[in-house]
Amino acid sequence: DAATSAAPSAKRVPTVNPLNGRPFSSTYHELREQRMKLPVSGFLDDLEKRLRTSQVVIVEGETGSGKTTQIPQFLVHAGLGTEAGGKLVGCTQPRRVAAMSIAQRVADEMDVKLGEEVGYTIRFEDVTSDSTVLKFMTDGMLLREAMADPELEKYGVIVLDEAHERTLSTDVLMGLLKEVLARRSDLKVVVMSATLDAGKFQDYFDGAPLLKVPGRTFPVETYFAAQPERDYLEAALRTVVQIHQSEPEGDILLFLTGEAEIEEACFRLRHEAESMPKELGRLDPRPLYSSLPPKQQRKIFDPAPAASVPGGKPGRKVVVSTNIAETSLTIDGIVYVVDPGFSKQKVYNPRVRVESLLVSPISKASANQRSGRAGRTRPGKCFRLYTEKAFHEELIEQTYPEILRSNLSTVVLTLKQLGIDDLVHFDFMDPPAPETMMRALELLNYLGALDDEGHLTQVGERMSKLPLEPQLARMVLSSSELGCAADVITIAAMLSAPTPFMRPKGQETEAREAKSHFSHPEGDHLALLHAYQGYEESGFSQDWCWENFIDSRAMKQATSIRSQLENIVRRIGLSVTGMAPGSRGYYPLIRRALTAGFFMQVAHLDRTLSGHYLTIKDNQVVQLHPSTCLASKPQWVLFHEFVQTSKNFIRTCTAIDGDWLVDVAPHYYDLRSFPKCEARRDLEIIYLRKAQELKKGGGRAAAAASS
Ligand code: ADP
Ligand code: MG
Repeated sequence: DAATSAAPSAKRVPTVNPLNGRPFSSTYHELREQRMKLPVSGFLDDLEKRLRTSQVVIVEGETGSGKTTQIPQFLVHAGLGTEAGGKLVGCTQPRRVAAMSIAQRVADEMDVKLGEEVGYTIRFEDVTSDSTVLKFMTDGMLLREAMADPELEKYGVIVLDEAHERTLSTDVLMGLLKEVLARRSDLKVVVMSATLDAGKFQDYFDGAPLLKVPGRTFPVETYFAAQPERDYLEAALRTVVQIHQSEPEGDILLFLTGEAEIEEACFRLRHEAESMPKELGRLDPRPLYSSLPPKQQRKIFDPAPAASVPGGKPGRKVVVSTNIAETSLTIDGIVYVVDPGFSKQKVYNPRVRVESLLVSPISKASANQRSGRAGRTRPGKCFRLYTEKAFHEELIEQTYPEILRSNLSTVVLTLKQLGIDDLVHFDFMDPPAPETMMRALELLNYLGALDDEGHLTQVGERMSKLPLEPQLARMVLSSSELGCAADVITIAAMLSAPTPFMRPKGQETEAREAKSHFSHPEGDHLALLHAYQGYEESGFSQDWCWENFIDSRAMKQATSIRSQLENIVRRIGLSVTGMAPGSRGYYPLIRRALTAGFFMQVAHLDRTLSGHYLTIKDNQVVQLHPSTCLASKPQWVLFHEFVQTSKNFIRTCTAIDGDWLVDVAPHYYDLRSFPKCEARRDLEIIYLRKAQELKKGGGRAAAAASS
C-alpha cells in the first residue's frame, strides 16, 4: 500500500508522499538512493516483525549505520502502534543540537517541512504542529511531558536513542517506561545503542529481543603521542596543520571540550591558514557546539572547499566539535580524527552539594568511538594526543552513568510529582548512591517542596510546573509573593539562556567598557536584569545588541524563555507584578527574592583568610569569579554557580543581607545544626539583635495595649 511503499526497503519507487499527498521532489529521490545504501535499511523489516510480537526491542548498531535517521521514519510508515488513534512516534536524544539537526535531516528525507509532519521539541522551544507524526526531542523534554501525561498517551512508539550514553533523563525514562509498558499493552519502545553493552539493556527490559546492525567501517590506524602533551590545545592545532600539510585528501575531525576552546581553535586555525601557500588548498575550520545557531551548525555537513588555484590541492574541512560528534551526529568524509582525550563531564560531589562541569579524561569506550569516526567512508587515521601507556593505564573502560554523578533534586521532584514515592524501590538500571538521594530529598525539603514525610507540598507541585531547577523555581515562586516576579522571572530567563555579555577577540577593552554600563554594585544578577531592560527599551533591537556587545541570540532566547515562564506562573494562578525599576526598595526586594531560592548557595567573607569566602556549612574556600561586577566584597553573597578550576570560584554573585537568611530560611540557618565558623558568629549576632528588637517591639506593644 501507499504507506509502506515510502519505506526505503520497498522495491517500487513511490511518486506521491503519503504523509501529505504532495508529489515527491527530486531531492527526495536523491536522498532515497543514499538511504537505501545505509546498513540499517536491510534490517527494517526484521525490526517490524519483532515489534509485532514484542513491546520492546533493543537495536545495537555502529554509529553511522542509519539508526537515528531511518528507524523513526520507518516506524511512522509502518504504522506500528500509531495506526489506531493517530498516535505519534517520539524519538529522544540526549542533546539539543542532535534533536534539532536530526529532525531537520529526517524532514528533508521524508520530503516535508520541518515543524509540520516532522518536528522537534527542546526545552523552551517547540517546533511541532497538529500535523506532526514524528517528533524528535531531548530526553529531558519527554520526562517533562510525562509529568503532564503520565501514560504518555500521545505516543504509539517511543524510541530511546543513544541509550548507551546513559544520561540522567534517559535512565529515569527507562524506569518510567517499564511501568507504563505494563499498563499500556499498545505501547512500543525501541531502545537504540551504539556500543556493545546491549546485553545490559536486554536484561533490564526482561529479555527483550536484540537486533544487531553491522556497521560499515574501514580500518583506522591509530597513533599515540610519544610523550604526554602539556598543552593539548596547542598540540591539537599543530597536529591539524601537519595533517593538512602532509596527508592526502580527506576531512579532519578535532574533539575539544567547549565553546570557548572551540572558537579559539577555529580562530587560530583560520589565522594559520592565511599564511599557507595557496597550492595546499584552503584549511576551513567549522565549529560545532550546543549553543551555536542551527544555521551555522549545518555548515559542518557542507563539503570541503574546492582547490583555490587551478591544479592545486582541494581544500580541507576541519570540524572542531564537542562530544556531540562522537556518536550523535555522523559527518561523512572524515578521514582524520584528532583526539586530545578530554571532554567536559558532569561531576557531583554530594558532600559539598556541588555539581560542576569539569574537563576530564574520556573513557576507553569514548576513545574508540572517536577513532571509529575516521573510518566511515574509507580507511582513516586517528591521532591520540596521549601516550599508549596512558590509554591503557589511566582511562577507565566506560564513562559512569550520569545518574551516579549528578545532583538528583530535579529528578526526585519529577518522580514525586509522578506519584512515585518509594524512590528506594524505583527500578533504576544503576541505582544512585543513597547519599546523593538523601541530599536531593534534603534540598527539596529545605526549599519547602517536600514535607518532613517526603510528600510533595503545594509549593513542590507548583515548582514542578516550572521548567527550571528547583532553586530557580523556588526563587520565582517567592518573588510572586513578594511582588517582584516581573523582574525575577527576567533574571531566571537570563540565567537559563547563554551568557549575553560578549568578549570578541581583540575587543576585550571595549567589551568590558560596554558591560560596565549594565553593572550594578550589588551584583551580577542585577547586571543581567539591566541588560534585559536595556534590550526591551531598545524595542528588542539587534543593532542595540551589536552596539553594546550583547549577544542578540542569547537575548532572543531569554525573551522567549521569559514569556513562557510568565505564562506558566500566571497559569498557576500567581501574580506577575513588579515595582517601578529603580524606585526605593526595588533592588533589595529583588535580592531578597533571590535569597528565598538560593539560601543554600551562600558564601561568607572570611576576614582571617585574606579576603576569601567560605561557603555556608561546607566551608569550601572560594573566590569571587573575576567576571563579577560586585563593587566591593560584601559580607554575604549568594552565588548561582560554583566553578572548579585550579581554584574554586563562585560565579554570578549578588550581595545579600544576613538578616534575610534567617528570615527566609530559619530552618536552614538553625544554629543548633550550624558548624562553628565566622558565619555562625555573625548569625548569632543577627539572632541576638532580632530577639532584642522583638522584645523591644513586644514591650512597646504591651505598653500600647495597657494605655
Ligand atoms: P546512526 O544513528 O546509526 O549513528 P544516522 O542515522 O545518524 O546513523 O546517520 C546515517 C547517515 O545519514 C550518516 O552516515 C550520514 O551519511 C547521513 N546523515 C545524517 N544526518 C545528516 C545530515 N544532517 N546531513 C547529511 N547527511 C546526514
Ligand atoms: Mg544515531
